[in-house]
Amino acid sequence: MHQQENSRFRETILIINDNPKSLKLLTELLSTQGYKVEIATNSKQVLETIHFILPDLILLEVKMPDIDGYQICEILKRNERTCNIPVIFISALDGVMDKIKAFTVGGVDYITQPFELIEILARIENQLRLRSLQQELQQQNARLQLLLKTTHAISEASDFESALEVILAEICQTMNWDFGEAWIPNQDNTMLRFSRGWYASNSSNGALPLTLKFRQQHQIITFSSHPGFLERVFSSQQAEWLEDISQEQYSVSICSEIAEKIGIKSALGIPIILERKVLTILVFFHKICRSLDQNSMELVNGVATQLGGLIQRKKAELALKKANQDLQVIASLDSLTSLANRRKFDEYFHQKWEQLRQEKQPLSLIICDVDYFKYYNDYYGHPEGDQCLKKVAQAISKVVIFPTDLVCRYGGEEFGIILPNTNLDEALRRAELIRREIKNLHISHAYSKTSTYVTVSLGVSSIIPNFQLSPRTLLIDADQSLYKAKEQGRNCVVAHINRCVC
Ligand code: GH3
Ligand code: MG
Ligand code: MG
Repeated sequence: MHQQENSRFRETILIINDNPKSLKLLTELLSTQGYKVEIATNSKQVLETIHFILPDLILLEVKMPDIDGYQICEILKRNERTCNIPVIFISALDGVMDKIKAFTVGGVDYITQPFELIEILARIENQLRLRSLQQELQQQNARLQLLLKTTHAISEASDFESALEVILAEICQTMNWDFGEAWIPNQDNTMLRFSRGWYASNSSNGALPLTLKFRQQHQIITFSSHPGFLERVFSSQQAEWLEDISQEQYSVSICSEIAEKIGIKSALGIPIILERKVLTILVFFHKICRSLDQNSMELVNGVATQLGGLIQRKKAELALKKANQDLQVIASLDSLTSLANRRKFDEYFHQKWEQLRQEKQPLSLIICDVDYFKYYNDYYGHPEGDQCLKKVAQAISKVVIFPTDLVCRYGGEEFGIILPNTNLDEALRRAELIRREIKNLHISHAYSKTSTYVTVSLGVSSIIPNFQLSPRTLLIDADQSLYKAKEQGRNCVVAHINRCVC
């Protein structure tokens, strides 16, 4: 075994023993190996020592002056701070029951005196290795837990901002930080400014002057005027821990006004990076000075690394969702008139049929067809015909105003109007309003045989949907009524019961 070159890097071992000879021997042995050694010769000293120093391992003599080693071990195992420190018993007692008792009270090993120094060292190293593996496992577990929570938060979040909000809250709570904020680089080319902050606190002492629920606030920091903590994290793309922010030359610029007001002392800045770009900088604050905790810094850093990819995926997913929504809107629109198209008509018609069948409420349908439109096209030309269709579409939309009504371009120069919760009388009245509105547009039609202006014929049908009939019935009825309106001279409204309102 070789001596450690730098004792700072070796673990601290607390020797609890009242025998000066044993103490000297063990202290020398461990110090030579580079361990940092602390000593306690009675239970009172043990309690004093562990109040200030948390050793990595304890060598505990069974026979002690006041209370014995077993009782000391029990006290240590009951204490939340010390319960995970491995305790190796050292004793001259060689009875099986003594050994069993040592393990029962929480000891991890038992060495009987006289001992070989080399054996003691081997057993200590073994326990330290186990402890370090255990800590690593705990770290990994904590990281996984945090990652699980944040991943869930991101997948549930509707946008990037609300995902950040939850991430900050989760990290604050898990890592015991008082306050967290997120800084997002501006999208401009300079990338010099951050704006927006989200604030959280898990503080429960109630002594804070502010309601520290999550809140959104905008703040801009220009790096060129305030070089400091954020700029360093931004440009180095590395996490940074500030034990005491008052030592920072530009301390004001590292935190928001709110963070400053609650009297923060320590800060941890973690960049979330994707493709070598800083997406966000998460900053966590504590109200008391916290010395660098490599483990928690690594833990948050590890989570941040994963978050970069996740956030990007979430962003892509949201962009895709939006694009799909846009596409769906486009796919259901008629490009000439901007009305709903036939696809949308069919979808909505079936949906309303089903709904009103359950509600036993009426569903009405109007089909509106431009009269002698072929002649119009022939005489005025196709582009003029398109303009005419646009005006007709606008006129119909002007009359049909209820949000559940749907006007669509049914095909060519035909328009379909779905009127849910509307009975035949009301549908006829609306159809008549449409007819008049279009005639009153006074669009000249030199070749119409029914008027000097563009007119329309309308077929109306109405039904309370039921299982016996199919939605097609209503369409056929409206279509037949339209046919009759054409027969009856056009520029009129006909209902499928042969009622004519001209
Ligand atoms: P009726 O009074 O019996 O309805 O006679 P009509 O001429 O209106 O009916 P027909 O079905 O004979 O002709 C419909 C015309 O509508 C033929 C077609 O050129 C025209 N049309 C269909 N879609 C469009 C379009 O998108 N733009 C233009 N400009 N014309 C269209
Ligand atoms: Mg037609
Ligand atoms: Mg026509």
